[in-house]
Amino acid sequence: MTESRQTIIVGSGPAGLTAGIYAARAQLSPLVIEGEPSSTSDQPGGQLMLTTEVENFPGFVQGIMGPELMSAFREQAARFGADYVTAKVSRVDLSSRPFGLWVGDPDTHEPSYEARSLIVATGAQSLMLNLPNEERLLGYGVSTCATCDGFFFRERKIAVVGGGDSAIEEALFLTRFADLVTVIHRRGELRASKVMQQRAFAHSKINFLWNTSVVDVLGETTVSGIRVRDNLSEEESELELAGLFVAIGHQPNTALFKGQLEMEDTGYLRTFDGTRTNVDGVFACGDVQDHRYRQAITAAGSGCMAAIDAERWLEDQQAETR
Ligand code: NAP
Repeated sequence: MTESRQTIIVGSGPAGLTAGIYAARAQLSPLVIEGEPSSTSDQPGGQLMLTTEVENFPGFVQGIMGPELMSAFREQAARFGADYVTAKVSRVDLSSRPFGLWVGDPDTHEPSYEARSLIVATGAQSLMLNLPNEERLLGYGVSTCATCDGFFFRERKIAVVGGGDSAIEEALFLTRFADLVTVIHRRGELRASKVMQQRAFAHSKINFLWNTSVVDVLGETTVSGIRVRDNLSEEESELELAGLFVAIGHQPNTALFKGQLEMEDTGYLRTFDGTRTNVDGVFACGDVQDHRYRQAITAAGSGCMAAIDAERWLEDQQAETR
């Protein structure tokens, strides 16, 4: 049986859940399809579930843990009537009206859900280095989540690849467990914000390998080291390590919408005039359409915009049919 909704929100990070709060308060009885806990790319709560302290979300003077913040967002939307389903969308049909959404088997004739308006808030996921042995050792010493895996590296030597805020945040967090954290960056200066840089430079457990790229991960069953290349001299060498954390940025989760929603070459959804996509009635918010700011607060702001845009669009549709 297909379940019908005025508004369906796909994704449950700050953007999706803020859209949920606003859509629920607008009495659109939104359904939030929140992702699957087993998935690294679209777990309920989004990327903040994989982070530690969020220090820059306004209103929390002492900071707040990412999962705690998301849990509060979720409860707040539920309080106004948002419903949740813990599942991954496997197919969408944006050519039909209402729109069709499938969870589970994408080949069934009838969609699992249909929606008059759709808010896409599927976020982004970690980029990988695409090294020969990276995928094989993912979960066996290669990680994209210090919060999830840091504990396994007590008193070990580990490395973090990347020069942005994520890499530095991961490195700082990992000093709680590891003896030594080496930040490996392909250039000679960090991209991370100055305050994060200062913290990392001042930390006795963090050192830096500048102008260096990782060429491969070594180890039979678990990581035993990495092979690196000095980008100035082109010389290669090996480093003994127990873990490699990859923190080189993100890619948007838009595969589901290929051929249906307009995207940039990088895969980010194109939005026009607020949060509208090229398909009337489909709105996008958060990291899935924002490669510039990518902050929890900007994602939340655009989630609010998407819900308001959807509400006004539904109202206009109703006015036209009256
Ligand atoms: P980012 O700012 O895009 O940084 C990615 C880093 O990885 C860059 O230093 C980049 O090198 C490097 N990199 C990219 N591809 C690589 C490759 N193939 N091999 C080696 N290195 C590679 O991504 P991010 O750190 O995930 O941050 C994303 C956004 O979230 C930013 O706006 C950031 O400020 C924000 N953020 C904020 C916080 C916080 O405030 N607490 C925490 C995390 C993230 P280059 O520098 O050479 O390009």
